[in-house]
Amino acid sequence: MGVVLRVPAADWRAQQRRVLAATPGLVPVAKGNGYGFGLARLAAEAAALGVDTLAVGTPSEVAAVRDAFGGRIVVLQPWRPGEPGAEELLADERVVHTVSRVTDLEHLSASGRRPSVLLELLTSMKRHGMRVDELTAVRKVLAGDAVDVVGWTVHLPMPAATGGNAVEAERLAKAGLAVRTAPVWFSHLTGADHDRLRATLYTETRLRVGTDLWLGGSVRRRTTATVLDVHPVKRGERVGYWQRPMPADGHIVVLSGGTAHGIALEAPTAAATGRQRLISAVNGSVEALGWARSPFTIAGKKRWFVEPPHMQASMVYVPGSKSVPAIGDQVPVELRLTTATVDEVVLED
Ligand SMILES: *Cc1c(COP(=O)(O)O)cnc(C)c1O
Repeated sequence: MGVVLRVPAADWRAQQRRVLAATPGLVPVAKGNGYGFGLARLAAEAAALGVDTLAVGTPSEVAAVRDAFGGRIVVLQPWRPGEPGAEELLADERVVHTVSRVTDLEHLSASGRRPSVLLELLTSMKRHGMRVDELTAVRKVLAGDAVDVVGWTVHLPMPAATGGNAVEAERLAKAGLAVRTAPVWFSHLTGADHDRLRATLYTETRLRVGTDLWLGGSVRRRTTATVLDVHPVKRGERVGYWQRPMPADGHIVVLSGGTAHGIALEAPTAAATGRQRLISAVNGSVEALGWARSPFTIAGKKRWFVEPPHMQASMVYVPGSKSVPAIGDQVPVELRLTTATVDEVVLED
């Protein structure tokens, strides 16, 4: 069983359809850990939504979505010569390459394959993209007609950080459109800003969405871990790789879920220092030991890690002998689905 993500299928798909309906030109993003669901599953969901294009993060992720999704596949990470798989990917006519440097555009133009490209413009994100002052050079390369320009692409900061991206989005889009009329693709534009821009740019626009599509709405997502083992321990007994002494009689509960699942050691509690620590020590609390709270809930309480999570399992401490789960029990585990990898996804009726 391991770590399981359970989602009510109907609610999840209703959320996807809400985003689809509210987002003309939606391009779903399926990258990395697949927002907890995995890339292949998201590819199948995108196919069921009926969109024509899916975006993945890196060249190597194309293979993970290719079978389940029959449309165009955009690679968000800019194409670079010499990257593993970069040249082979040029042979795949369903793939659209993001280009963020003039030299790469030249390279692709010289490939003889007339690859499909998205021309990325540098935004205040300062991640990837060509500057507006480079667009004269871009125009020259495009004059050779040796690439198929699918569009311009503008990847903006989070609207919450900027108070909205409409002004920057419009400025950059217009700079690109002055060089070549093509659809403009955006990321992280609010729906309202996207609607406004669609009305003013006189060209097709696309909006790439991941988090809101797959993890948005009020969809109930439950993640659980499996109790793999339970061991009674005595006060002072040393356990784990690091042979930490136990603060009181209790139980060690070994759970599925470790660093491989994205379970990290969070900061120890503030009580780990000074006077509080002394007080806690007197009270026999693990807070005094600077232990870190785990994301695992047993009998209604987040439990303490005995030590940092292992690769595929974690050890937590349950004081006393009440509230001790049985081997095979499923217990809630709090996971951030943008960083977690689960063993199984269950879509519930
Ligand atoms: C990851 C990514 C997205 C999707 O971002 P969310 O915040 O998950 O919606 C969109 N565009 C680009 C370029 C990305 O890298």
